Amino acid sequence: MRKRHQIIIFVGLIWLATHTIAHPQTNGTLPTPEAVLGFRIGTEKKLADYHQLVDYLRKLDAASDKIQLENLGKTTEGNDFMMAIISSPANLRQIEEWKKIQARLADPRGLSETEAAKLLARGKTLVLINCSIHASEVGAAQMSLELAHHLAASNAAAVQQILDNVITLLVPAHNPDGQLMIVDWYRKNLGTKHETASMPWLYQKYVGHDNNRDWFMFTQAETRITIEKIHNIYHPHITLDMHQMGENGARLFVPPYIDPIEPNVDPIIVGLLNTLGTYVQATLTAQGKSGVVSNAIFDAWTPARAYPHYHGGLRFLTEAASADYATAVNIPEEKLQGDDFYGGRRSSWNFPKPWLGGKWTLRDIVDYDFSAAMAILEHAARNREFWLKSILQVQQNAVNGEGKPAAYVIPANQRDAEGLHALLEIMRLGLVETYRANEDFMADGAPFRQGDWIIPIQQPYGRFAKAMLESQRYPVLRDDSGALRQPYDATTHTLPLFLGVETFAINTLPKLPGEPMKRAVELTGKLSGSSSVFALDPANTASYRALNLLLKRNIPVYWAQSPIQNGKQEFPAGTILVDGKNQEVVLREIAQQSGADMQGLSIKPSGAMYRLQTPRAGLYKSWVANMDEGWTRWVLEQYDFSYKTLTDAEIRAGDLHEKFNVIILPDQAARSIERGHDADKMPLSYSNGLGEIGIYQLRTFVEAGGTLVAFDAATELPIQKFWIQLRDVTEGLPAQKFNAPGSMLRVIADTRHPLAYGARREEAIFFNNSPAFRLDEGKGILTYPRSNLLLSGWLEGEEHLIGQHALVEAPVGAGRVILFGFRPQFRGQVRATYKFLFNALFYSAAKTVNDPF
Ligand SMILES: [Zn+2]
Repeated sequence: MRKRHQIIIFVGLIWLATHTIAHPQTNGTLPTPEAVLGFRIGTEKKLADYHQLVDYLRKLDAASDKIQLENLGKTTEGNDFMMAIISSPANLRQIEEWKKIQARLADPRGLSETEAAKLLARGKTLVLINCSIHASEVGAAQMSLELAHHLAASNAAAVQQILDNVITLLVPAHNPDGQLMIVDWYRKNLGTKHETASMPWLYQKYVGHDNNRDWFMFTQAETRITIEKIHNIYHPHITLDMHQMGENGARLFVPPYIDPIEPNVDPIIVGLLNTLGTYVQATLTAQGKSGVVSNAIFDAWTPARAYPHYHGGLRFLTEAASADYATAVNIPEEKLQGDDFYGGRRSSWNFPKPWLGGKWTLRDIVDYDFSAAMAILEHAARNREFWLKSILQVQQNAVNGEGKPAAYVIPANQRDAEGLHALLEIMRLGLVETYRANEDFMADGAPFRQGDWIIPIQQPYGRFAKAMLESQRYPVLRDDSGALRQPYDATTHTLPLFLGVETFAINTLPKLPGEPMKRAVELTGKLSGSSSVFALDPANTASYRALNLLLKRNIPVYWAQSPIQNGKQEFPAGTILVDGKNQEVVLREIAQQSGADMQGLSIKPSGAMYRLQTPRAGLYKSWVANMDEGWTRWVLEQYDFSYKTLTDAEIRAGDLHEKFNVIILPDQAARSIERGHDADKMPLSYSNGLGEIGIYQLRTFVEAGGTLVAFDAATELPIQKFWIQLRDVTEGLPAQKFNAPGSMLRVIADTRHPLAYGARREEAIFFNNSPAFRLDEGKGILTYPRSNLLLSGWLEGEEHLIGQHALVEAPVGAGRVILFGFRPQFRGQVRATYKFLFNALFYSAAKTVNDPF
């Protein structure tokens, strides 16, 4: 008996000795999150804010040589965007080498088998953990501290293996601005009856929840940092993207995703997602964690959520069931819901162990998230070579893959120089190699010009280019009852249509000039000709920026109401004419700054013109946080428009006609605009909506001569309340008969009307089960043609749209309403239709004059 004890003590001492020597830092002296924060992570009603998260990680970094905290740049509102790199001390000392290995494996052109084998033997699995991109989904950001501490402090063999074989890139909060706002909001309401109220503004300055729909347009600071400073440098094999979903369903979603998978995602990536997903599910289930579902709810169609899928990696989504921020919820068993893919309480192959209701807390979310993250890191560590080899094969497929097309050619001469510039920028940021032809060339029997752009598909990120440049045919999927299955998000992402850029798919690759483009292409406009009158082309979206800059300098600007003949050259109606007498220096500066060319005319244009002025614009902002409102702000700021945000109270106060030419109602249901939040669910200052008085004031504004612009669902409000002589023909149509969930549709433009200045006869709009108008009074400016409406995405029930209008102007008193049966600025992505919005703003303040020159 006694002898046995001695042996145990002896073995214990050896264990202690070896582990202490091997890992001198892991002796328990590392600060714990609890010691620094003063509470345990996940404690009921306690949230650490971003400053506290970073403060803890800083202290951990100072105490441990397994973590290195980096500041990657500034967020939209000026906070630091932080990332912790966690690995063994030896690995951290050689971080530059791992970057080099990753870059070499990501671009396997010319990589010999011997060299590949060497790199595969030496390389590490790179795992990026992106927490709480949606700031109200608070759990993952809190969890990140426990994960960092565990990796730095634990002596467990599995953790040691992770540190040795994996480089973990931990972004504790992808959206620091929003994290701070949400914690502040929650703390303010704690202990009141509004403790769990939703925040009445967006948790990212401009885009709110859409910050996770930005992964091909790269508009926001946080997206850009993540692309440029993380993905494009480290090429992570796995990106764990940690979210939360509703309260009443499964406890955690993991891949496999449901169909459809976007066809350019390499099948190996799909296989890896399925493998890792079911592994995580099995691991959590074995730990006794019930309610883990896979293959439900979330598809993998849009690149807007999945940069990694086209860049040699997995986007591994987790969605934990939510509590109410840090306030526990109680879910009785009978309230549990499933969806088309699993039952709420019934087990199935993809939902092996249902959760049967009860209390659900922030701590539960932290536990599930922690386990999921650890399971992924363990898999990545244990199967290091499998991960490296599999992803290398993905990249080899990309550079060796055959098929059609061989390349895309993008002519340099485009109507919209800014659209072309945006497309080239997306390709550059997405690491797509783009070449500029140094001589005229033939491809597929057609001539192309020197200076045209060529994007070969056989290249490391050719799949990204192809996914973004081709049109989508969203597969029509039906459930067992035959009903159409709704996509999770938009069904199209075709950049040439979004940006109004002509591209050509070609099947034989032309001879490429030596080097792909290295730097960003600059968008600079030129001033040409010497004259007192200069013309700006409204087809170039950059011209609107120039227009605003000209007006700010008090330079007179006009819209030609009829075409203008300048020698042999004809300028269409809507050409922007600048009175540039003795202003050449300023004009040159504005051309350069705005990116719009200005051409001097040899004649003095005459006839009727609109004198343009800076529109005094008001933008309605509901306390029901509205992403479309945020995107509108973002877009207006990109083009130097001035605007004033209008709250319910400011509209109700009236006198709107004294202050504004135009008021914009972003996409929002009329009922939500009118009623806002229920007073029992929200502090009083943010509850209720416009109400009857607000709507009356809007109508008075229009009747007195103002212009009301409404997008998409918001068009319902003037239609219902202003008694306009038109109706929405899609109203009440069931989804089986009419369905176009986020598709690009063809419309015919009346280009003589100011709202369509700069447009082509045929244009494409982004339609998301939007209204379509039949007019009895007013003008239809964009009209659905007789046939072939669908350009990209999915459309069921085309016949309902034929001959109806997508953009109308209807008179109301001395003013007008302009109704958009679509979102002209959709997510800052659909830019070819910006001009319809910009025209509406200038039109609201334009006055007809004759022969101003
Ligand atoms: Zn989310």
